[in-house]
Amino acid sequence: MIVVLIRVYYWGHNFLSNTLKKRHVICITIIYVYIYNKIVQKIFRSVVLLNKKVDLTNRGKNILKLTEQLVNIESVSNTQGVIEIGNFIHDKLEEWPYYKKNPDHLLKLPLRDDNMKRFNLAALVKGDNNNNNTVVYIGHMDTVDIGEYRDLKKLATKPYELMEKFKKRDLNEQVKKDLNSGEWLFGRGAADMKSGVALELELLKEFSEDTEDLPGNVLVIITVNEEADSLGMLNIAKPLVELAQKEDLNYIGAINTDYTTDEIGTNPSHRYVYMGTLGKLVPALYVVGKGSHVGDVFGGFDVNLLMSELTSRLDNNMELADKYQDRITDPPVSLKQEDLKVEYNGQLPYEGFSYYNFLSFNRGVAETMDIFKEEVEDSIRSSLDWIKGNFRVYKSYHPQQDMELNLDIDCYTFEELLDIVHNKYIQEKVEAEIENVLSQVKKEGIKDLRIHSLRIIKRIWELSELEGPAAVVFLVPPFYPPQDPNIDDPKFKKFNSIVEEAINNHNLDGHDYNIIIKDFFPFLSDASYAAFQGDKKDEEILKNNMPYWGRGWKIDIEAVRKLNLPVADVGVHGKGAHKYLERVHIPYTMQVLPELIKSITKKSLQKF
Ligand SMILES: [Zn+2]
Repeated sequence: MIVVLIRVYYWGHNFLSNTLKKRHVICITIIYVYIYNKIVQKIFRSVVLLNKKVDLTNRGKNILKLTEQLVNIESVSNTQGVIEIGNFIHDKLEEWPYYKKNPDHLLKLPLRDDNMKRFNLAALVKGDNNNNNTVVYIGHMDTVDIGEYRDLKKLATKPYELMEKFKKRDLNEQVKKDLNSGEWLFGRGAADMKSGVALELELLKEFSEDTEDLPGNVLVIITVNEEADSLGMLNIAKPLVELAQKEDLNYIGAINTDYTTDEIGTNPSHRYVYMGTLGKLVPALYVVGKGSHVGDVFGGFDVNLLMSELTSRLDNNMELADKYQDRITDPPVSLKQEDLKVEYNGQLPYEGFSYYNFLSFNRGVAETMDIFKEEVEDSIRSSLDWIKGNFRVYKSYHPQQDMELNLDIDCYTFEELLDIVHNKYIQEKVEAEIENVLSQVKKEGIKDLRIHSLRIIKRIWELSELEGPAAVVFLVPPFYPPQDPNIDDPKFKKFNSIVEEAINNHNLDGHDYNIIIKDFFPFLSDASYAAFQGDKKDEEILKNNMPYWGRGWKIDIEAVRKLNLPVADVGVHGKGAHKYLERVHIPYTMQVLPELIKSITKKSLQKF
């Protein structure tokens, strides 16, 4: 193939050189390269597809084609690409006859106060029979970064060229097998989750073309920023509640088509559906030490000692993992630990900041915060014991000196610290101080919400005029509320049982795998924000201990409680999400899954 192309190139080049002037040649070469680039992908695609053993139906072919188009648009979280892909999908849907007739059923929902002007998409199709039951499909249009592809970064969004390159590399046997099978599509976002979005849109298109066959309504929500701070989904509850009022929609449950994969240690050929989702909370610690020189170690307090003590108690500690029936989450682990010294000096590190990952099945915010605070207090005690014990040794070497160890470490929650400050200053003054801090961080171009939170804590600590050493415990974004599928709520019970029944009755003849239903989607996802199962106490702990709450990050708990959507992840099947070997299984995702989701959708709309 390449040889032929090179020959054609030289033939063309010689012909043109002999008959045309140099500038003509340059001009024509540019056009030629442009056309070459346009067709090259098609050539690679046909080379790969020739090998394909899967025979796709028209629906499957449409989903595959749309997946490719979506992967071609690089849409890494927090880049302009998410706007490009949003516009692409919007413009495509706008051309459907249904949206030409019902333009107000296709909506761009802008994110609040977003200087990037990002938007979520909502596309509603109403059935003809006046049943207001509505199933919501959830998907996200952003992806993680493409840095992992290293020298192949340029091909991360060009599946077929990428696969041809991979074929020439020394990759492991399973990857080679998948590459040669023709059953897998590689590329960033192929599995997480542009194929899922393509599938949802293809089903929506089918419903829109035959509204008589739709026993209710389907609403597709495609969000941005899922792979970063879930800002898209955090903005969705309120407009969805408003849309329900305007269009008379009764949301009965949601289907997410996000990435699923083989479960370790189980039969790799099984497929999985997950009811509900795992939650995550990120408790943080700000430590103020006691200034001293390294020549007088016992005269001060090193913040690294306390943070290390805490980290060694939390990291990998299975006793602190959350349990649910016979299952257990991964243990807590540190996500960051640093002292805030900016350059070398002979002083003990005076300030420190660390935060930790806590996963949960159904453990509430208040309970996790209690556990964290207790560990911080225990760490303070053991740090002090350690110092005191060593001080006795030190003192025994200096018998003639009159030395006292004067050390205690106070522990505050952010809420307690703020109370102290509110007793000194009026609320407006404190608010103005926080706003100042935030506009300064933004001016500095800092995007990390954890750093924004830290700066607030630092300012509040200064205003408190308290003396260190001390520890302040608080929360930083993100917080993913867990969704317990077995919660005592009739809506959850009903939707989940319909989904389970539809899956168990689904005909899988001719396939050598089962679809296994499990509780809790094991990866964090937007589905967390479809309901809030915490109680009032959880809500208060969150609002009062997350300094960044309501300042660019918050859950609209009131609207989310109204939405109260059970979510089933009936997801695409893939491998290697977030890695450079990310790939989606075409036959299951584009052939089996759409039929299954269509059947779940229709059954839930009818039976609810
Ligand atoms: Zn995803």
